[in-house]
Amino acid sequence: MDLEDTLLMMPGPVPVAPRVLRAMSRPMINHRGKEFSAMFDDCTTMLKEIFQTENDLFTISGSGTASMEAALGCTIDKDDKVVTIENGKFGERFKDIAARYGQVVPVECEWGTSVDLDVVEEKLSEGAKAVTMVHNETSAGIRNPAPEVGKLAKKYDALFIMDGVTSIGGDDVKVDDWGVDIAVVGSQKCIAAPPGLSMLSVSERAFEAMNKENLPYYLDLKAYQKSAAKSQTPYTPAVPLFFGLQEALKIVMEEGMDARIKRQATGAAAVRAAMDAMGIEMFPQLNATSAYSSTVSAMKAPEGVDSNDIKKGMMDKGIIIAGGQNRLSGKIFRIGSMGNVAPKDLMMTIQHLELVFKKLNVVNEIGAGTEAAAKVFDTL
Ligand code: PLP
Repeated sequence: MDLEDTLLMMPGPVPVAPRVLRAMSRPMINHRGKEFSAMFDDCTTMLKEIFQTENDLFTISGSGTASMEAALGCTIDKDDKVVTIENGKFGERFKDIAARYGQVVPVECEWGTSVDLDVVEEKLSEGAKAVTMVHNETSAGIRNPAPEVGKLAKKYDALFIMDGVTSIGGDDVKVDDWGVDIAVVGSQKCIAAPPGLSMLSVSERAFEAMNKENLPYYLDLKAYQKSAAKSQTPYTPAVPLFFGLQEALKIVMEEGMDARIKRQATGAAAVRAAMDAMGIEMFPQLNATSAYSSTVSAMKAPEGVDSNDIKKGMMDKGIIIAGGQNRLSGKIFRIGSMGNVAPKDLMMTIQHLELVFKKLNVVNEIGAGTEAAAKVFDTL
């Protein structure tokens, strides 16, 4: 299949705008020169606006997981307790990373169910250096209660380390208001830059907590702080990715965060309306503290259908959606509404999904899903 004709509708990497691709093909520049520093400052200013933070903000040449590891590797020592909230694959990843550096106090909720805040409070009340949570659990299509966990972290004097990999740039994330000490985003998600970079904000409290003897080397956030004062990175950055990031951030600013958040949320609402019209159940089991993700929607595969067959049917039509990860493989399928995804991309996805469902005998007639989604977009 011709890759240029493929539509990426998965929760990252997302399609990048042609002007971002063009920016990346510029000649290389000196990463210790003025031109790089100007680009570094420009990106940092735009990112701070998106994160809604005054905290220090760094860009690491490494995907989201690198920044998750930097956050824990710099703050957690071997005897430190970390409350790790898990209701999906990326919450589990935070737990696994935390286990490499300190003592994990797990709060494990069934994947796709809401976080039990009472259990989180109980564990934090026993004393912990930090609590980790994934704001938007991509693997389950669920938005977790970040403001509430921020309040609990403050009450029990723990650092709040938040994975905002698929929420920052797509959702209204208030790093400072919520008291997030370290917040992480990936370049390839809501910001719609190419994969390979991750950005994280770090509070003063988090820096004060970096008092362990051996900080990581490449991921030493104090080294990033020192270099940032000179508008540089400590080691050679992925310069072409910085070119792409800067252009992608300009697109975010041109659209405006309010409009961007609304567009992505409307996209997810359209997907949910289409699913409802086709009799497909959403995967998350929500209580009042959680919400459906507005950047990725996760649906249960219909009775007797392997979700990999849905994914394959769509791939044959040139549209890439995601299946379930790990224990959810075959059971759920996911559609991204993050990045620069336009209503027409989602409409095309839903129309093709109806055709796939008809072939799999999930629906008898086509059209109900498309019509329901179109009605939601009419509100835009
Ligand atoms: N956290 C979340 C919520 C994610 O969705 C992902 C990737 O999909 C990651 C972390 C890992 O990011 P990366 O693959 O960029 O390392």
